[in-house]
Amino acid sequence: MTSVLEPDIALEKTPLERYVPPAKPSLVGLTRAALAEALGAVGVAPSQQKMRVQQLWHWIYVRGAQDFAQMTSVSKELHAVLDAHYTLARPEVVAEQVSVDGTRKWLLRLPGEHAGERPHEVECVYIPESDRGTLCVSSQVGCTLTCSFCHTGTQRLVRNLTPGEIVGQIMVARDRLGDYAGMERAQGVGVPTGGDRCISNIVMMGMGEPLYNFDAVRDALAVVHDGDGLAISRRRITLSTSGVVPMIERAGAEIGVMLAVSLHAVRDELRDKLVPLNRKYPIAELLEACRNYPGVSNARRITFEYVMLKGVNDSLEDAKALVRLLKGIPAKINLIPFNPWPGSQYECSDWDQIEKFSEIVFNAGYASPVRTPRGRDILAACGQLKSATEKLSARERMALRAMAMTD
Ligand code: SAH
Ligand code: SF4
Repeated sequence: MTSVLEPDIALEKTPLERYVPPAKPSLVGLTRAALAEALGAVGVAPSQQKMRVQQLWHWIYVRGAQDFAQMTSVSKELHAVLDAHYTLARPEVVAEQVSVDGTRKWLLRLPGEHAGERPHEVECVYIPESDRGTLCVSSQVGCTLTCSFCHTGTQRLVRNLTPGEIVGQIMVARDRLGDYAGMERAQGVGVPTGGDRCISNIVMMGMGEPLYNFDAVRDALAVVHDGDGLAISRRRITLSTSGVVPMIERAGAEIGVMLAVSLHAVRDELRDKLVPLNRKYPIAELLEACRNYPGVSNARRITFEYVMLKGVNDSLEDAKALVRLLKGIPAKINLIPFNPWPGSQYECSDWDQIEKFSEIVFNAGYASPVRTPRGRDILAACGQLKSATEKLSARERMALRAMAMTD
Protein backbone atom coordinates (compact mmCIF):
# COMPACT_ATOMS: atom_id res chain seq x y z
CA MET A 1 0.00 0.00 0.00
CA THR A 2 2.96 2.30 -0.43
CA SER A 3 2.31 3.38 -3.97
CA VAL A 4 0.61 6.68 -3.24
CA LEU A 5 3.72 7.71 -1.32
CA GLU A 6 6.15 6.64 -3.97
CA PRO A 7 7.83 9.14 -6.29
CA ASP A 8 5.97 9.98 -9.48
CA ILE A 9 6.21 7.38 -12.17
CA ALA A 10 6.58 8.35 -15.83
CA LEU A 11 3.38 9.59 -17.39
CA GLU A 12 3.83 7.79 -20.69
CA LYS A 13 6.07 5.27 -22.36
CA THR A 14 7.10 5.37 -26.01
CA PRO A 15 5.66 2.86 -28.48
CA LEU A 16 8.43 0.54 -29.58
CA GLU A 17 7.12 -0.98 -32.76
CA ARG A 18 5.03 -0.48 -35.86
CA TYR A 19 2.77 -2.85 -37.73
CA VAL A 20 4.27 -4.33 -40.87
CA PRO A 21 1.60 -5.80 -43.16
CA PRO A 22 2.11 -9.34 -44.46
CA ALA A 23 2.69 -9.91 -48.18
CA LYS A 24 -0.89 -11.16 -48.49
CA PRO A 25 -3.02 -8.87 -46.35
CA SER A 26 -6.30 -9.88 -44.73
CA LEU A 27 -9.56 -8.26 -45.85
CA VAL A 28 -10.94 -8.53 -42.29
CA GLY A 29 -11.57 -5.17 -40.68
CA LEU A 30 -11.43 -3.00 -43.82
CA THR A 31 -14.03 -0.27 -43.97
CA ARG A 32 -16.33 -0.38 -46.99
CA ALA A 33 -14.22 2.30 -48.69
CA ALA A 34 -10.95 0.49 -47.97
CA LEU A 35 -12.40 -2.81 -49.20
CA ALA A 36 -13.60 -1.17 -52.43
CA GLU A 37 -10.09 0.16 -52.90
CA ALA A 38 -8.58 -3.29 -52.27
CA LEU A 39 -10.93 -4.74 -54.89
CA GLY A 40 -10.06 -1.99 -57.34
CA ALA A 41 -6.38 -2.81 -56.86
CA VAL A 42 -6.95 -6.35 -58.18
CA GLY A 43 -8.98 -5.26 -61.18
CA VAL A 44 -12.60 -5.15 -59.99
CA ALA A 45 -14.28 -2.44 -62.10
CA PRO A 46 -15.50 0.66 -60.22
CA SER A 47 -19.09 -0.03 -61.31
CA GLN A 48 -18.93 -3.46 -59.60
CA GLN A 49 -17.16 -2.48 -56.41
CA LYS A 50 -20.14 -1.47 -54.30
CA MET A 51 -22.00 -4.70 -55.03
CA ARG A 52 -18.89 -6.83 -54.43
CA VAL A 53 -18.19 -5.08 -51.13
CA GLN A 54 -21.73 -5.88 -50.02
CA GLN A 55 -21.31 -9.53 -50.98
CA LEU A 56 -17.95 -9.90 -49.33
CA TRP A 57 -19.13 -8.20 -46.13
CA HIS A 58 -22.01 -10.64 -45.93
CA TRP A 59 -19.69 -13.63 -46.24
CA ILE A 60 -17.07 -12.26 -43.90
CA TYR A 61 -19.20 -10.80 -41.09
CA VAL A 62 -22.58 -12.51 -41.24
CA ARG A 63 -21.43 -15.98 -42.31
CA GLY A 64 -17.94 -15.96 -40.84
CA ALA A 65 -16.24 -17.24 -44.02
CA GLN A 66 -12.58 -18.08 -43.56
CA ASP A 67 -12.00 -19.04 -47.16
CA PHE A 68 -12.96 -17.28 -50.42
CA ALA A 69 -14.13 -20.63 -51.83
CA GLN A 70 -17.04 -20.58 -49.36
CA MET A 71 -18.49 -17.49 -51.03
CA THR A 72 -20.96 -19.21 -53.32
CA SER A 73 -22.51 -15.99 -54.61
CA VAL A 74 -19.11 -14.81 -55.85
CA SER A 75 -17.73 -16.14 -59.14
CA LYS A 76 -14.94 -18.73 -59.17
CA GLU A 77 -12.77 -16.33 -61.19
CA LEU A 78 -13.02 -13.72 -58.49
CA HIS A 79 -12.27 -16.34 -55.79
CA ALA A 80 -9.01 -17.07 -57.55
CA VAL A 81 -8.09 -13.39 -57.93
CA LEU A 82 -8.89 -12.66 -54.28
CA ASP A 83 -7.07 -15.74 -53.10
CA ALA A 84 -3.96 -14.74 -55.01
CA HIS A 85 -3.75 -11.37 -53.27
CA TYR A 86 -5.62 -11.49 -49.99
CA THR A 87 -6.65 -13.68 -47.07
CA LEU A 88 -9.49 -13.67 -44.56
CA ALA A 89 -7.07 -14.29 -41.71
CA ARG A 90 -7.81 -13.29 -38.15
CA PRO A 91 -5.26 -13.20 -35.35
CA GLU A 92 -3.96 -16.66 -34.53
CA VAL A 93 -5.39 -18.21 -31.38
CA VAL A 94 -2.61 -19.67 -29.26
CA ALA A 95 -4.57 -20.54 -26.14
CA GLU A 96 -8.13 -20.69 -24.92
CA GLN A 97 -8.99 -20.73 -21.24
CA VAL A 98 -12.43 -21.26 -19.77
CA SER A 99 -13.08 -20.02 -16.25
CA VAL A 100 -15.26 -21.87 -13.76
CA ASP A 101 -17.80 -19.03 -14.21
CA GLY A 102 -17.97 -19.51 -18.01
CA THR A 103 -15.72 -16.57 -18.88
CA ARG A 104 -13.48 -17.40 -21.83
CA LYS A 105 -10.11 -15.88 -22.56
CA TRP A 106 -8.22 -16.20 -25.81
CA LEU A 107 -4.57 -15.47 -26.20
CA LEU A 108 -3.96 -14.16 -29.71
CA ARG A 109 -0.68 -13.93 -31.58
CA LEU A 110 0.09 -10.92 -33.73
CA PRO A 111 3.11 -10.29 -35.91
CA GLY A 112 5.93 -8.14 -34.54
CA GLU A 113 7.76 -5.51 -36.55
CA HIS A 114 11.05 -7.34 -36.81
CA ALA A 115 11.11 -10.67 -38.63
CA GLY A 116 12.46 -13.50 -36.53
CA GLU A 117 11.71 -11.78 -33.23
CA ARG A 118 9.07 -13.02 -30.89
CA PRO A 119 5.55 -12.09 -32.04
CA HIS A 120 3.17 -10.08 -29.86
CA GLU A 121 0.26 -11.42 -27.93
CA VAL A 122 -2.99 -9.83 -26.83
CA GLU A 123 -5.88 -11.23 -24.90
CA CYS A 124 -9.57 -10.97 -25.49
CA VAL A 125 -12.22 -12.02 -23.00
CA TYR A 126 -15.84 -13.18 -23.35
CA ILE A 127 -18.14 -12.72 -20.36
CA PRO A 128 -21.52 -14.47 -20.63
CA GLU A 129 -24.38 -13.22 -18.45
CA SER A 130 -28.06 -14.08 -18.55
CA ASP A 131 -29.10 -10.93 -20.42
CA ARG A 132 -25.95 -10.18 -22.40
CA GLY A 133 -22.71 -11.60 -23.67
CA THR A 134 -19.88 -9.10 -23.51
CA LEU A 135 -16.61 -9.26 -25.36
CA CYS A 136 -13.73 -7.25 -23.95
CA VAL A 137 -11.49 -6.14 -26.79
CA SER A 138 -7.95 -4.73 -26.81
CA SER A 139 -6.78 -1.73 -28.81
CA GLN A 140 -3.01 -1.88 -28.28
CA VAL A 141 -0.33 -4.39 -27.39
CA GLY A 142 0.43 -3.18 -23.89
CA CYS A 143 -0.28 0.47 -23.13
CA THR A 144 1.81 3.60 -23.26
CA LEU A 145 0.14 4.82 -20.07
CA THR A 146 1.21 3.79 -16.63
CA CYS A 147 -1.77 3.53 -14.29
CA SER A 148 -0.31 2.15 -11.11
CA PHE A 149 -3.08 -0.36 -10.36
CA CYS A 150 -3.20 -1.85 -13.88
CA HIS A 151 -1.26 -4.90 -14.97
CA THR A 152 -1.24 -3.78 -18.60
CA GLY A 153 0.32 -0.49 -17.46
CA THR A 154 3.43 -2.37 -16.34
CA GLN A 155 3.98 -3.87 -19.78
CA ARG A 156 6.69 -2.29 -21.88
CA LEU A 157 6.25 -3.66 -25.34
CA VAL A 158 3.76 -1.63 -27.33
CA ARG A 159 2.29 -1.22 -30.72
CA ASN A 160 -1.07 -0.06 -31.94
CA LEU A 161 -3.42 -2.69 -33.27
CA THR A 162 -4.73 -2.35 -36.82
CA PRO A 163 -8.49 -2.22 -37.53
CA GLY A 164 -8.17 -5.80 -38.80
CA GLU A 165 -6.65 -6.92 -35.53
CA ILE A 166 -9.35 -5.16 -33.52
CA VAL A 167 -12.23 -6.55 -35.60
CA GLY A 168 -10.28 -9.82 -35.77
CA GLN A 169 -10.66 -10.30 -32.01
CA ILE A 170 -14.44 -10.32 -32.39
CA MET A 171 -14.20 -12.63 -35.40
CA VAL A 172 -12.03 -15.06 -33.46
CA ALA A 173 -14.47 -15.05 -30.55
CA ARG A 174 -17.38 -15.67 -32.91
CA ASP A 175 -15.40 -18.45 -34.63
CA ARG A 176 -14.73 -20.14 -31.31
CA LEU A 177 -18.26 -19.70 -29.99
CA GLY A 178 -19.89 -20.72 -33.29
CA ASP A 179 -21.64 -17.36 -33.32
CA TYR A 180 -22.28 -16.77 -37.05
CA ALA A 181 -25.53 -17.24 -38.96
CA GLY A 182 -26.12 -20.90 -39.73
CA MET A 183 -23.22 -22.13 -37.59
CA GLU A 184 -23.40 -24.68 -34.81
CA ARG A 185 -22.60 -23.20 -31.41
CA ALA A 186 -19.70 -24.45 -29.37
CA GLN A 187 -20.60 -26.91 -26.64
CA GLY A 188 -21.84 -25.36 -23.41
CA VAL A 189 -22.29 -21.93 -24.97
CA GLY A 190 -25.67 -20.21 -24.75
CA VAL A 191 -27.30 -17.09 -26.10
CA PRO A 192 -28.47 -14.28 -23.80
CA THR A 193 -32.22 -14.03 -23.25
CA GLY A 194 -33.93 -12.10 -25.99
CA GLY A 195 -30.93 -12.20 -28.31
CA ASP A 196 -29.78 -14.35 -31.18
CA ARG A 197 -26.01 -13.96 -30.83
CA CYS A 198 -23.67 -14.97 -28.00
CA ILE A 199 -21.83 -11.67 -28.31
CA SER A 200 -24.33 -8.85 -27.79
CA ASN A 201 -22.02 -6.20 -26.34
CA ILE A 202 -18.51 -4.96 -26.98
CA VAL A 203 -16.35 -3.12 -24.47
CA MET A 204 -13.08 -1.55 -25.53
CA MET A 205 -11.63 -2.30 -22.10
CA GLY A 206 -8.89 -4.80 -22.82
CA MET A 207 -5.28 -3.81 -23.22
CA GLY A 208 -4.45 -0.31 -24.27
CA GLU A 209 -5.87 3.17 -24.45
CA PRO A 210 -8.33 3.24 -27.38
CA LEU A 211 -8.13 7.02 -27.83
CA TYR A 212 -4.37 6.70 -28.40
CA ASN A 213 -5.16 4.51 -31.40
CA PHE A 214 -8.04 6.65 -32.57
CA ASP A 215 -8.20 6.03 -36.34
CA ALA A 216 -7.89 2.26 -36.08
CA VAL A 217 -10.50 2.07 -33.31
CA ARG A 218 -12.88 4.34 -35.26
CA ASP A 219 -12.51 2.30 -38.46
CA ALA A 220 -12.82 -1.01 -36.63
CA LEU A 221 -15.93 0.07 -34.75
CA ALA A 222 -17.50 1.28 -38.00
CA VAL A 223 -17.38 -2.34 -39.18
CA VAL A 224 -18.67 -3.57 -35.82
CA HIS A 225 -21.76 -1.33 -35.69
CA ASP A 226 -22.63 -1.47 -39.39
CA GLY A 227 -25.90 -3.38 -39.78
CA ASP A 228 -24.40 -5.35 -42.67
CA GLY A 229 -21.14 -5.84 -40.81
CA LEU A 230 -20.94 -7.35 -37.33
CA ALA A 231 -24.22 -5.53 -36.59
CA ILE A 232 -23.70 -4.66 -32.93
CA SER A 233 -25.39 -1.32 -32.35
CA ARG A 234 -23.48 1.69 -31.06
CA ARG A 235 -25.50 1.61 -27.84
CA ARG A 236 -24.06 -1.80 -27.11
CA ILE A 237 -20.48 -0.75 -27.66
CA THR A 238 -18.61 1.01 -24.86
CA LEU A 239 -15.26 2.69 -25.25
CA SER A 240 -13.33 3.17 -22.04
CA THR A 241 -10.72 5.89 -21.78
CA SER A 242 -8.34 6.84 -19.02
CA GLY A 243 -9.15 10.46 -19.90
CA VAL A 244 -7.53 11.59 -23.15
CA VAL A 245 -9.38 14.90 -23.03
CA PRO A 246 -8.55 16.30 -26.50
CA MET A 247 -9.92 13.18 -28.19
CA ILE A 248 -13.20 12.85 -26.28
CA GLU A 249 -15.21 15.20 -28.46
CA ARG A 250 -13.94 13.52 -31.63
CA ALA A 251 -14.79 10.13 -30.16
CA GLY A 252 -18.40 11.26 -29.72
CA ALA A 253 -18.62 12.84 -33.15
CA GLU A 254 -16.75 10.24 -35.22
CA ILE A 255 -17.29 6.98 -33.33
CA GLY A 256 -20.51 7.73 -31.44
CA VAL A 257 -20.44 4.77 -29.07
CA MET A 258 -21.10 4.79 -25.33
CA LEU A 259 -18.33 6.37 -23.29
CA ALA A 260 -16.78 5.10 -20.08
CA VAL A 261 -14.22 7.13 -18.18
CA SER A 262 -11.71 5.64 -15.76
CA LEU A 263 -12.04 8.19 -12.98
CA HIS A 264 -10.88 6.22 -9.91
CA ALA A 265 -10.20 9.28 -7.72
CA VAL A 266 -11.98 12.49 -6.81
CA ARG A 267 -8.89 14.58 -6.09
CA ASP A 268 -6.14 15.47 -8.57
CA GLU A 269 -3.42 14.70 -6.07
CA LEU A 270 -4.53 11.06 -5.82
CA ARG A 271 -5.56 10.68 -9.47
CA ASP A 272 -2.10 11.93 -10.48
CA LYS A 273 -0.73 8.80 -8.80
CA LEU A 274 -3.34 6.29 -9.92
CA VAL A 275 -3.79 7.53 -13.48
CA PRO A 276 -0.65 9.58 -14.22
CA LEU A 277 -2.26 10.98 -17.40
CA ASN A 278 -4.20 13.17 -14.95
CA ARG A 279 -1.09 15.35 -14.68
CA LYS A 280 -1.70 16.32 -18.30
CA TYR A 281 -5.51 16.37 -18.22
CA PRO A 282 -6.77 17.00 -14.68
CA ILE A 283 -10.19 16.07 -13.32
CA ALA A 284 -11.91 19.41 -14.02
CA GLU A 285 -10.90 19.33 -17.69
CA LEU A 286 -11.92 15.70 -17.99
CA LEU A 287 -15.37 16.35 -16.54
CA GLU A 288 -15.83 19.38 -18.77
CA ALA A 289 -15.12 17.19 -21.80
CA CYS A 290 -17.68 14.69 -20.47
CA ARG A 291 -20.33 17.40 -20.09
CA ASN A 292 -19.74 18.28 -23.74
CA TYR A 293 -19.60 14.70 -25.04
CA PRO A 294 -21.67 14.71 -28.24
CA GLY A 295 -24.93 12.85 -27.73
CA VAL A 296 -24.73 12.61 -23.94
CA SER A 297 -28.19 12.54 -22.34
CA ASN A 298 -30.08 10.74 -19.61
CA ALA A 299 -30.71 7.96 -22.09
CA ARG A 300 -27.04 7.87 -23.09
CA ARG A 301 -25.15 8.29 -19.87
CA ILE A 302 -21.42 8.25 -19.41
CA THR A 303 -20.14 5.48 -17.18
CA PHE A 304 -17.58 6.51 -14.61
CA GLU A 305 -15.38 3.63 -13.58
CA TYR A 306 -14.05 3.63 -10.07
CA VAL A 307 -11.71 0.87 -8.96
CA MET A 308 -12.05 0.13 -5.25
CA LEU A 309 -8.61 0.28 -3.62
CA LYS A 310 -8.48 -0.43 0.06
CA GLY A 311 -7.49 2.57 2.14
CA VAL A 312 -6.62 4.58 -0.98
CA ASN A 313 -9.84 5.88 -2.60
CA ASP A 314 -12.61 4.01 -0.80
CA SER A 315 -13.60 6.24 2.15
CA LEU A 316 -17.19 7.34 2.54
CA GLU A 317 -15.95 10.91 2.16
CA ASP A 318 -14.64 9.89 -1.25
CA ALA A 319 -18.08 8.48 -2.11
CA LYS A 320 -19.78 11.76 -1.16
CA ALA A 321 -17.20 13.77 -3.08
CA LEU A 322 -17.77 11.54 -6.11
CA VAL A 323 -21.48 12.25 -6.05
CA ARG A 324 -20.83 16.00 -5.78
CA LEU A 325 -18.27 15.91 -8.55
CA LEU A 326 -20.57 14.25 -11.09
CA LYS A 327 -23.52 16.53 -10.38
CA GLY A 328 -25.12 17.67 -13.63
CA ILE A 329 -23.48 15.01 -15.81
CA PRO A 330 -25.77 12.22 -17.07
CA ALA A 331 -23.75 9.47 -15.43
CA LYS A 332 -23.62 5.91 -14.24
CA ILE A 333 -21.04 4.82 -11.72
CA ASN A 334 -19.31 1.49 -12.09
CA LEU A 335 -17.56 0.42 -8.91
CA ILE A 336 -14.94 -2.16 -9.86
CA PRO A 337 -13.47 -4.32 -7.14
CA PHE A 338 -9.70 -4.16 -7.64
CA ASN A 339 -8.38 -7.27 -9.33
CA PRO A 340 -4.99 -8.12 -7.93
CA TRP A 341 -2.21 -9.29 -10.23
CA PRO A 342 1.21 -10.72 -9.50
CA GLY A 343 3.25 -8.01 -7.82
CA SER A 344 0.44 -5.44 -7.53
CA GLN A 345 0.82 -3.03 -4.67
CA TYR A 346 -2.85 -2.49 -3.83
CA GLU A 347 -5.53 -4.50 -2.15
CA CYS A 348 -9.20 -4.63 -3.02
CA SER A 349 -11.45 -2.76 -0.59
CA ASP A 350 -13.31 -4.91 1.93
CA TRP A 351 -16.72 -6.02 0.69
CA ASP A 352 -18.39 -4.24 3.58
CA GLN A 353 -16.73 -0.97 2.56
CA ILE A 354 -17.68 -1.43 -1.09
CA GLU A 355 -21.31 -1.89 -0.02
CA LYS A 356 -21.31 1.25 2.12
CA PHE A 357 -19.64 3.23 -0.67
CA SER A 358 -22.13 1.86 -3.16
CA GLU A 359 -25.07 2.78 -0.92
CA ILE A 360 -24.04 6.44 -0.84
CA VAL A 361 -23.74 6.48 -4.60
CA PHE A 362 -27.06 4.65 -5.00
CA ASN A 363 -28.90 6.95 -2.58
CA ALA A 364 -27.68 9.90 -4.64
CA GLY A 365 -29.61 8.46 -7.58
CA TYR A 366 -26.88 6.66 -9.45
CA ALA A 367 -27.38 3.13 -10.57
CA SER A 368 -24.14 1.67 -9.31
CA PRO A 369 -23.87 -1.97 -10.09
CA VAL A 370 -20.76 -3.35 -8.47
CA ARG A 371 -19.15 -5.40 -11.18
CA THR A 372 -18.52 -8.81 -9.75
CA PRO A 373 -15.08 -9.82 -10.87
CA ARG A 374 -15.28 -12.43 -13.60
CA GLY A 375 -12.68 -14.90 -14.74
CA ARG A 376 -10.28 -14.13 -11.92
CA ASP A 377 -9.03 -17.73 -11.93
CA ILE A 378 -7.72 -17.27 -15.47
CA LEU A 379 -6.44 -13.68 -14.96
CA ALA A 380 -9.13 -12.41 -17.32
CA ALA A 381 -10.58 -9.65 -15.15
CA CYS A 382 -10.14 -5.91 -15.74
CA GLY A 383 -6.58 -4.80 -15.62
CA GLN A 384 -5.15 -8.30 -15.33
CA LEU A 385 -4.44 -8.66 -19.03
CA LYS A 386 -0.81 -8.90 -19.96
CA SER A 387 0.89 -10.75 -22.78
CA ALA A 388 2.44 -14.04 -21.83
CA THR A 389 5.43 -13.03 -23.94
CA GLU A 390 6.28 -10.55 -21.24
CA LYS A 391 8.15 -12.92 -19.05
CA LEU A 392 7.05 -13.02 -15.45
CA SER A 393 9.69 -11.79 -13.06
CA ALA A 394 10.65 -14.04 -10.16
CA ARG A 395 8.67 -11.74 -7.88
CA GLU A 396 5.60 -12.06 -10.08
CA ARG A 397 5.89 -15.81 -10.19
CA MET A 398 6.03 -15.97 -6.43
CA ALA A 399 3.07 -13.65 -6.12
CA LEU A 400 1.13 -15.69 -8.68
CA ARG A 401 1.71 -18.85 -6.70
CA ALA A 402 0.62 -17.12 -3.53
CA MET A 403 -2.56 -15.91 -5.26
CA ALA A 404 -3.30 -19.37 -6.58
CA MET A 405 -3.07 -20.69 -3.06
CA THR A 406 -5.39 -18.13 -1.54
CA ASP A 407 -8.01 -17.97 -4.33
N1 SAH B 1 -7.21 2.09 -21.16
C1 SAH B 1 -8.60 2.21 -20.98
C2 SAH B 1 -9.35 0.93 -21.22
C3 SAH B 1 -8.74 -0.35 -20.70
S1 SAH B 1 -8.70 -0.60 -18.97
C4 SAH B 1 -8.90 2.77 -19.61
O1 SAH B 1 -7.99 2.87 -18.80
O2 SAH B 1 -10.05 3.13 -19.39
C5 SAH B 1 -10.40 -1.03 -18.57
C6 SAH B 1 -10.82 -0.69 -17.14
O3 SAH B 1 -10.18 -1.56 -16.20
C7 SAH B 1 -10.41 0.72 -16.72
O4 SAH B 1 -11.43 1.35 -16.00
C8 SAH B 1 -9.24 0.45 -15.83
O5 SAH B 1 -9.00 1.52 -14.99
C9 SAH B 1 -9.68 -0.80 -15.12
N2 SAH B 1 -8.61 -1.52 -14.45
C10 SAH B 1 -7.30 -1.55 -14.78
N3 SAH B 1 -6.62 -2.33 -13.91
C11 SAH B 1 -7.52 -2.82 -13.03
C12 SAH B 1 -7.42 -3.73 -11.93
N4 SAH B 1 -6.29 -4.28 -11.60
N5 SAH B 1 -8.56 -4.01 -11.24
C13 SAH B 1 -9.75 -3.48 -11.63
N6 SAH B 1 -9.90 -2.64 -12.67
C14 SAH B 1 -8.79 -2.31 -13.37
FE1 SF4 C 1 -3.52 1.71 -19.96
FE2 SF4 C 1 -6.09 1.69 -19.17
FE3 SF4 C 1 -4.24 0.17 -17.94
FE4 SF4 C 1 -4.21 2.80 -17.62
S1 SF4 C 1 -5.85 1.41 -16.97
S2 SF4 C 1 -2.42 1.50 -18.02
S3 SF4 C 1 -4.83 3.51 -19.63
S4 SF4 C 1 -4.92 -0.03 -20.05
